[in-house]
Amino acid sequence: MDLSKMVVEIASEMAAETDRGHVADYIPALARVSPDQFGIAVVTADGTVHAAGDAETPFSIQSVSKVFALTLALDRIGEALWHRVGREPSGSAFNSIVQLESERGIPRNPFINAGAIVVSDALLAGHDARETIGDLLRFVRFLAEDDGVEIDSEVAHSEAGTGFRNFALANYMKAFGNLGNAVEDACKVYFHQCALTMSCCQLAKAGRYLMTEGIHPGSGTPVITPERARRISALMLTCGHYDGSGEFAFRVGIPGKSGVGGGILAIVPGKASIAVWSPGLNERGNSKLGSLALERLAERTGWSVFTA
Ligand code: GLU
Repeated sequence: MDLSKMVVEIASEMAAETDRGHVADYIPALARVSPDQFGIAVVTADGTVHAAGDAETPFSIQSVSKVFALTLALDRIGEALWHRVGREPSGSAFNSIVQLESERGIPRNPFINAGAIVVSDALLAGHDARETIGDLLRFVRFLAEDDGVEIDSEVAHSEAGTGFRNFALANYMKAFGNLGNAVEDACKVYFHQCALTMSCCQLAKAGRYLMTEGIHPGSGTPVITPERARRISALMLTCGHYDGSGEFAFRVGIPGKSGVGGGILAIVPGKASIAVWSPGLNERGNSKLGSLALERLAERTGWSVFTA
């Protein structure tokens, strides 16, 4: 299989697509991004990078960052995290508040906004928000082996200025006793993590530890235990695409986490870490062309977590 040729073909097929979805416009800094972009990067187990299209263009990774924040939080506080956040798909929108009432302030999973705010709160654990944001940035740079990974402060401020629902989620959880720090601090960490800016090449490199059962391929050191790496991938498969997670699992068949910036990180255990990006979103808030590109890549490579 000639992967390099395959990704180039997929990128040119995507360039020809006219129905590209709608760019997220609820955060002003994201609304300005042109939908005419598509990038793909595949890092295989031997470390080779196959990339095409706008694979070097940095974009706002948004909710894809929830994978990295969860990894760091599990490493820091371990299984205790699961007392504060569940592991069930929500079937609701990423920013929904409805289930928080019936489930007494415990978010359904760490990949919806409420769950990610709890993870931010766990990472804070009484520390200064700036310090926590710095820790997360250093962690992602280490994963990607690239100090060029940045946090776009304009995006972070744009999020804070329009994040009324996220503040509401945080306040609601605080009322149920599921937020240890100030709402403003937990949200500050969350907004900055969403504003991480990475290219497809950087993102695919950062995701390699999930392909290699938790080992950081660059240094050979464990990022997380093999069991936790598998479990993070399980959550990506069941909860990684908001209320479109079932459809993504059905069509693509590999774990993936999307963000409203149009990026998706997808993992083929033992074989590949893949990042795709195209800013136009489908009706569930997932990258339209990114999802289509992954579907074609999975079809052509035969990659699936349901086949040996
Ligand atoms: N920063 C976004 C928000 O909380 C994250 C959205 C996403 O990618 O799901 O509104």
